[in-house]
Amino acid sequence: MEESVLQEIRQIKKAFEREFEKTIRELSALMVRKIVNNNDEKESSDISLLEDRLAKYLEKLEKRYLLFLRSPESYLKCEACGEKIPIERLINVPVTRQCCKCKNHKKKKS
Ligand SMILES: [Zn+2]
Repeated sequence: MEESVLQEIRQIKKAFEREFEKTIRELSALMVRKIVNNNDEKESSDISLLEDRLAKYLEKLEKRYLLFLRSPESYLKCEACGEKIPIERLINVPVTRQCCKCKNHKKKKS
């Protein structure tokens, strides 16, 4: 494999590790908030909302990471246009399934 491709794979792997770590850290912080929560309803609903969001993100991360490990060619390809997603975008948002162009296009339509 080309050195530049290996370099890209390493960078994406790091981005995934960063996101996993961050999400797990945030989930652990929520667990602590839950323990110290003194039956505060507002705090409870804030916590569950955040918890749901983080859990969903973690699920997405896991799915995308598995695809990346098992089939990097499909992972790198934009689901909408089939072009290669720019490496900078994948490093910033490793769970993304589309390139910036397609993502923005979709946003404008909806
Ligand atoms: Zn695209």
